[in-house]
Amino acid sequence: MIIDIPLQVNNALDILSSAGFEAYVVGGAVRDAVMGRKVNDWDIAASSLPAQTEKAFESFKVIETGMKHGTVTVIINGFHIEITTFRIDGDYSDNRRPDSVSFTDDITKDLSRRDFTCNAVAYSPSAGFIDPFGGLEDINKKIIRCVGDPGTRFREDGLRILRALRFSRTLGFDIDPLTADAIHENAGLLKNISSERTVAEMCKLLPFAGADFLDEYSDIIFEIIPELKAEKGCRQNHIRHIYDVWMHSCKAVENSPSDAEIRFAALLHDIGKPACKTTDENGVDHFYGHADTGAEITRDVMNRLKVSNRMKNHIITLVKYHGFTPEGFTDKTFRKYIGTLGEETIKDLFALREADIRAQSPAFHEESLKLNKAGYDKFLSLLSQEKCFKISDLNINGTELIGLGIQQGAVIGKILSSLFDEVISDKLPNNKDALSKRAKELYDNGNS
Ligand code: ATP
Ligand code: MG
Repeated sequence: MIIDIPLQVNNALDILSSAGFEAYVVGGAVRDAVMGRKVNDWDIAASSLPAQTEKAFESFKVIETGMKHGTVTVIINGFHIEITTFRIDGDYSDNRRPDSVSFTDDITKDLSRRDFTCNAVAYSPSAGFIDPFGGLEDINKKIIRCVGDPGTRFREDGLRILRALRFSRTLGFDIDPLTADAIHENAGLLKNISSERTVAEMCKLLPFAGADFLDEYSDIIFEIIPELKAEKGCRQNHIRHIYDVWMHSCKAVENSPSDAEIRFAALLHDIGKPACKTTDENGVDHFYGHADTGAEITRDVMNRLKVSNRMKNHIITLVKYHGFTPEGFTDKTFRKYIGTLGEETIKDLFALREADIRAQSPAFHEESLKLNKAGYDKFLSLLSQEKCFKISDLNINGTELIGLGIQQGAVIGKILSSLFDEVISDKLPNNKDALSKRAKELYDNGNS
């Protein structure tokens, strides 16, 4: 078997070997190419030291990406290629980063520091595959297996736990039983991982994660978001439900579009339920106020995970409004929602609601999906009309009101607010003439 390597990458391999060094394509590039998947980054591992690599590429643009770790990036015809010196990692005393790295001229040693066998294969057109850990066989069998002893490898870097889950789902691989056991045994190591790295992996994992997988690795998810633990076994004795809150949430994730933030919201959308659960005299469970409570818990989770403000607010909003039923809204109310939450968020809310419905009892799918579609159609119809969803969408502004002779000050805000109310109630067209005339009327009435 040969790998079809882009011209520029072949060029880089040739330059290194002409300078007397060993050089291979490694990691994800080999794995994806063998699988026939699109390769994102063509990374090269080489026996040259970083300075030697730079020298070999002196006629090209070179970026010193991470000299300490041995990485330089060369740009060949606009193509970025990372070239990293064969490396051995030192001890990992903090479960996340090697205390030191040292360079080696032995590709096998470099491959042995890599996380999974499928990521530990090297290839060059002249040498063929270098595969000391059976990576090609595991790629063939679709198995994620640690290079070496799984427990040791996870204790070196706890993030590998999440990488294992992520590669398993994105590649469609099973996790080898010994590797899976070590994942469960070492779940606690995730505490040592920075929240930024954790969130980045979660965002890559969630779009590919199904309900059974999330449940199988619930201990890992609960390590990251302990607030979800109370969902497991939290029964929902209600005709609309057939799962406990946890499994319902897993199904909601599975049914969501492959968008990381919608899926994050689906995972968290009922996080307020355990705290809000009540059971009535007929034994039926209710969860009054769970969306608001859930939004507050979500805020704590997002703050702890240090996600960006934009992502935090988006996910909190999705959780807070996940139960909205806009098909029952008046046009005026719906327009206000669009103005406050924004078109994109409303779209995401419809997607989340559909996923939520599909995670409930199938007996209600048809009816509930119909309502959701009615709401969505109404949303589209409001969008197709002239857009006025917030005061700033009015075809008149404060300065123009002052130009009409209206006194500067609080009255301007009041008049704009009245105009907006009348426009979204379909009582007044959103054009300057009509708005000006009405503004003067309101002002005169207020002052008479
Ligand atoms: P993709 O970029 O498609 O997510 P990849 O395999 O290229 O997959 P990267 O995170 O880009 O993954 O890392 C490149 C290679 O570096 C991996 O294939 C693996 O060999 C090695 N590697 C990366 N992170 C680790 C880690 N935490 N522990 C051990 N090896 C790692
Ligand atoms: Mg990569």
